[in-house]
Amino acid sequence: MNQAQSSHDGTTYDVIVLGAGPVGQNVADHARAAGLSVAVVERELVGGECSYWACVPSKALLRPVIAFADVSRVDGARQAVTGRLDSEGVFARRDRYVTDWDDSGQARWVKSIGADLFRGHGRIDGPRRVTVTPGDGTPQTLTARHAVAVATGSRPAMPDLPGIEAARPWTNRHGTDSSTVPDRLVVVGGGGVGVEMATLWQGLGSAVTLLARRSLLPRMEPFVGELIARGLTEAGADVRIGVQVTALRRPDAAGPVTLDLDDGSALETDEVLFATGRTPATDDIGLETIGLTPGSWLDVDTTCLVRGVDGAWLYACGDVNHRALLTHQGKYQGRTAGDAIAARAAGRPLDDDAWGDHATTADQHAVPQVFFTDPEAGAVGLTAEQAGRAGHRVEVVDVDFSTVQGAKLYADGYRGHARMVVDRDRDILLGVTFVGPGISELLHSATVAVAGEVPLKRLRHAVACFPTVSEIWLFLLAARHSG
Ligand SMILES: Cc1cc2nc3c(=O)[nH]c(=O)nc-3n(C[C@H](O)[C@H](O)[C@H](O)COP(=O)(O)OP(=O)(O)OC[C@H]3O[C@@H](n4cnc5c(N)ncnc54)[C@H](O)[C@@H]3O)c2cc1C
Repeated sequence: MNQAQSSHDGTTYDVIVLGAGPVGQNVADHARAAGLSVAVVERELVGGECSYWACVPSKALLRPVIAFADVSRVDGARQAVTGRLDSEGVFARRDRYVTDWDDSGQARWVKSIGADLFRGHGRIDGPRRVTVTPGDGTPQTLTARHAVAVATGSRPAMPDLPGIEAARPWTNRHGTDSSTVPDRLVVVGGGGVGVEMATLWQGLGSAVTLLARRSLLPRMEPFVGELIARGLTEAGADVRIGVQVTALRRPDAAGPVTLDLDDGSALETDEVLFATGRTPATDDIGLETIGLTPGSWLDVDTTCLVRGVDGAWLYACGDVNHRALLTHQGKYQGRTAGDAIAARAAGRPLDDDAWGDHATTADQHAVPQVFFTDPEAGAVGLTAEQAGRAGHRVEVVDVDFSTVQGAKLYADGYRGHARMVVDRDRDILLGVTFVGPGISELLHSATVAVAGEVPLKRLRHAVACFPTVSEIWLFLLAARHSG
């Protein structure tokens, strides 16, 4: 690429990034590091859903809940903590982590990497063009020499139920920015957001009822949802599986909400939070101007280039491509796409074979995710069922944490379970799942093993320290040999 190409005149940039969430920021950072000029367009807060209404506030709020639960499992420490969680302190902690919903620090970061920030709603307006409409100003059209990267994220998908609008349900937004604890809260949805929100608000003092259509966390190994349901129930929550809301009634905006359920019963609550999935934020970004369908998830190749668009210029990273609705995975896509854009701009060959620098292969084989529930749950790669369905010859190895000395010392009466799914033909791991206190920090060891395709014969030489929770590895490998 020549230097002239990396310049910009205020309206023409090498790369335009639509959405300044964590993912858009990573695209911008990598494209800038390669010397490309970058415009970043953001309609709300720089930092995105993740920084202000999702990952960061939810974990800032959940950490005290889980720390409190952890202490209650350590004799000697347990006796010292006799009160309840101080919700005001917990909310103040959250407010610090979301910088009081002030994005000036993150906006400064965009500037510090040498990118230009445009505040306003961005819409694609034909190939390589984006119109930015500020809240109070005149639309401005930007042109991209090389690429437009869509990183506009997702929004809550709300079911179309009678009375839902009048019920003013919470979504992840109020579930993470509220500074009052409702006496009663119904959480609808047993996925990741639902179980975390139920854990959080039960921990803060609400009487939570969790309604799930199927099991909890149905995409994970079945024991995960069972152990989380048990944990929530023991914490005092009412977990109802196989139940759906059919209608909502809130005649008085300041009064309670009544939910009609498909088992014929009704449930009264002070607030209801819907965590019933996500929908792509692509309905109003001008997809129709380039032959794509507004409101659809964007289908991408391994470099995050959108399929079905002429010319290699449109990329989609993060939630919007529906590969894995997780910040870390979206950021990985953003880094990859930023590097691929730079390589294409410079006319360099792409390194896009599996596990190459310009390939998002981990999206297919090694997506890690952690749920900050009590007990925590984490998994990477395939479940036994998914691996079988994908045609692998699998061996499933299960171990209970209660036999692991490091786990017992970590928490009295430690309750947890681990599973590894082995590819019999290649002698590598296809997936690993852990449930138990403190396992969130253990998961990365499994991610390294799965993404690295470390042969089990070699994994035996990765010796876990005694006495740590990580010793579960020793037990898993031993169980395999004896199994
Ligand atoms: C409650 C909750 C907790 C979560 N916890 C975790 C967690 O612990 N770990 C994890 O990995 N994932 C978590 N997730 C998922 C995570 O939040 C998303 O995967 C992540 O935010 C995706 O990042 P993104 O940059 O793609 O989108 P977003 O973070 O949604 O950012 C998109 C940005 O684009 C902007 N935008 C949208 N449309 C336009 C437009 N037309 N013009 C200009 N700007 C636009 C938006 O304003 C926003 O700032 C959680 C999700 C929820 C709901």
